[in-house]
Amino acid sequence: MRARPAAAGALLLLVGCGSDPAAPPAEAPPPPTTPAVYEVGRAYLGREGYVEYRPGDAPVILTATHGGALAPAEIPDRTAARCGGEATTATDLNTVALALATRERYRARFGRTPHVVLVHLARRKLDANRPAGEAACGDAAAGRALAEWHAFVDEARRAVTAASGRGLLLDLHGHAHAVPRLELGYLLDGAQLDASDAALDADAGLEDASSVRELSRAAPASFAALLRGSAALGTLYARQGVPAVPSASDPSPRGAPYFSGGETTRRHGCAAGGTVCAVQVEAPLAGVRDDAASRDRFGDATSAALEEFLRTHWGLRLAAGAGAR
Ligand SMILES: [Zn+2]
Repeated sequence: MRARPAAAGALLLLVGCGSDPAAPPAEAPPPPTTPAVYEVGRAYLGREGYVEYRPGDAPVILTATHGGALAPAEIPDRTAARCGGEATTATDLNTVALALATRERYRARFGRTPHVVLVHLARRKLDANRPAGEAACGDAAAGRALAEWHAFVDEARRAVTAASGRGLLLDLHGHAHAVPRLELGYLLDGAQLDASDAALDADAGLEDASSVRELSRAAPASFAALLRGSAALGTLYARQGVPAVPSASDPSPRGAPYFSGGETTRRHGCAAGGTVCAVQVEAPLAGVRDDAASRDRFGDATSAALEEFLRTHWGLRLAAGAGAR
């Protein structure tokens, strides 16, 4: 049937309306909500509300994968024996609220809204910041939620790229390390960051592998300066009263525990292609995500830091009505 010209035309028309008769079978479905245009101000849920996408109109995407609380019986708990890896199940307390508060403070400051993509499943049911096998542990319902999660992030990246040409994803997490500072993950491990600025700048492979590759290539600053110079994201956070590593005053972990970035930063950052870069933001609890006032302060600090960071290095103006360059 589809070989006939008339039928092919009808098929194209149907695809254009968002109804795809050739959709894949139920075992590997697209997200259940796939409107042609996502509306800012609405929330789109995956099956059973396990994942959520709130579209925005800013060149910024906020994600949280480890803050969920849903523990449905249909999904077995993840264990190291079944899933491989470490099968970490600890919740990053209040990180869903942290993403939403940051979204609101950003909107209040700039009049534009970051995209937000959330996992509401508890981490013992799904870890979307891990490769698929360890993430969903072979369970069909968890695997579907994972596919929906990635599809929502892909949609946010597509929208940012279409609107602004480039943008930044912040993947929000919580750590319980002894040093109460933000750990900004660019897919460089602690030992790599311990190198001197000259060594970082001399090794093009490090920039290539980083989650901010395209941003670094476009920036007037050197790679090391982008990571920990006077206008680095960590330095700008510190200036807002939120200590961070790497930054000008705290250039590398120097042997302390440090999270360098996971699957979200790898898969949805620009090291994997495209011009939406990513940074994993690991936050301490006290003063950042412990209560509503802390989360609002973090949202304000993030907004101020992003404003200067993205303007300085990428020519992006975050305020509504401002030109892109
Ligand atoms: Zn986490």
